[in-house]
Amino acid sequence: MFAKRHRLRLLTGMATLSLGVLVTTPAAHAQSPDINGLKAEAEAYVNAHAKLIQQIVDSTFSFQEIGYNENQTGIYLTGILQRHGFAIRRNIEGIPTAWVASWSNGSGRPTVSLNNDEDGLPGLSQMPGILKEQPMIAGGNGQSEGHNTGLAGMVVSALALQSVMEQHHISGTVQVWPGIAEEILGGKAWYVRAGVFEHVDAVLSTHVSSGLGTSYGRSGGTGMISAEYTFQGKTAHAAADPWDGKSALASAEMFDNGMNYMRQFFHPASRTQNVLVNGGDEPNVIPALTEDWYYFREVTPEMVRQNFATANRVAKAAAEMFGTTVAVKTIGTAWPSWGNQPLAEDMDRNIQAVGMPNWTADDQRYAKAVQALIGQKPIGLNTRIEKLGTGEVNPLGGPSDDIGDVMWTVPTVRLMFPANIPEVPFHNWKAALAEATPIAYGGAAVDAKVLAMTALDLYLNPQLVRNARHYFDDVQPVLAMQAYGTSKPVVYQSFLPANATPDISIHDALMTKLRPLMEKMYYRPDKYPTYLDQLGVKWPCLTQDSACGAPKALVPPNQIQ
Ligand SMILES: [Zn+2]
Repeated sequence: MFAKRHRLRLLTGMATLSLGVLVTTPAAHAQSPDINGLKAEAEAYVNAHAKLIQQIVDSTFSFQEIGYNENQTGIYLTGILQRHGFAIRRNIEGIPTAWVASWSNGSGRPTVSLNNDEDGLPGLSQMPGILKEQPMIAGGNGQSEGHNTGLAGMVVSALALQSVMEQHHISGTVQVWPGIAEEILGGKAWYVRAGVFEHVDAVLSTHVSSGLGTSYGRSGGTGMISAEYTFQGKTAHAAADPWDGKSALASAEMFDNGMNYMRQFFHPASRTQNVLVNGGDEPNVIPALTEDWYYFREVTPEMVRQNFATANRVAKAAAEMFGTTVAVKTIGTAWPSWGNQPLAEDMDRNIQAVGMPNWTADDQRYAKAVQALIGQKPIGLNTRIEKLGTGEVNPLGGPSDDIGDVMWTVPTVRLMFPANIPEVPFHNWKAALAEATPIAYGGAAVDAKVLAMTALDLYLNPQLVRNARHYFDDVQPVLAMQAYGTSKPVVYQSFLPANATPDISIHDALMTKLRPLMEKMYYRPDKYPTYLDQLGVKWPCLTQDSACGAPKALVPPNQIQ
């Protein structure tokens, strides 16, 4: 502990030297002369609130909520922030679970915005802390990526900032908001459209990982448009008078066929997938309604647009073939990500100062047991910080995140923090195992510290705010022009159609079935020290293929045979 604090002083001391303006700007002087001391106070606040971190991690894991249905998570988190005097703006762009919290001190300038995603994934319910695949609710939702862990980091860092800013009369606004429906990219572009970032100077966004690091420039991921194609035809008896029907399913199948041929002509980094949400009811009725949901991913905004336009053409042709109609609804969008260099460099200094979590022997033993369980080398948890990422030259495609829309609207950086086990694949039950355990608490505390310290740099160093803005206004558009091969500097233009509305009822049917069972699983911090205690799971669970005392999965009534 002592060694770590000592290291913190040394490194942040170096940071202060390189940012000479910090000690020479009168405003900064008046507010506080000692940024290292303030950062140490923020760090101490986070350490003193380890219990709150554990409760937020466990509670938000236990809610098991998915996109546009983050109701309980929202009530819980805004409750904490409201009790601390944060003002809450709700119902952003008509999305009931979309909220922004803010708290101001002094002049209220500058504004630093803290973000972390909050939704889980359908069908990926998983009991935490055990060593086997076992859902909490059969067919239920789960935090099988670990978005819940960063919610603790985001909220506790905001409270740490409030405490330090109040005590030392530091001016600024702390804004806090969740990435809702991130898994269907259905949140952040709407936040942008709602003008949430109009007076924001910097966004510090975080995401769960097994490593600790940040990066700037072009990311390795993709931009994306997610769209649902609804084909409508005419029913008929499939045997008596099929010639009177117009098959929506046949149109959707020809659309899919067309897209599978079309892949040959897409650029190599394209990732295009679909699910047939609704293909009809019974084979003896010609289906009059079919819904086909597509994701179009590419590494430049223009190529995302082109692939989407191609798909629209193919869908129209497929409808024409069978005399049906097709309507296209945009469900979600994301611009390709681009991190702000001055913010990333500052955050990296704070990452070096905070360091990796002090993993316990039990944390490491459980991590190795999980790795062995899933057929990976038992290397345990990461103990080294990642090098500052400097951007991708030729990205080969990969996942998308709607933080891209925010990164093209306001200077933004993303912190990856270590609250999961190396080698576990995301969007998989394996990725939920550690997300309500001490591994998650340790990672979330590091997240909170780095966020708070980076925000303090922004509140106290006007030059950093200016540098971030300069990079955003003058450097990022030109670098992106070269990277994307456009003829003009790149300017953000949302993929959302002007008349689009968020598809907030997309998971209604599933949630109506699951919610009563989900409520039974909510964590009760008043009764149990941890969620593992509530579930009766022994920690660390080290016996292979073992539930270590966890109860059996709840089963929705309509699934009982
Ligand atoms: Zn995510």
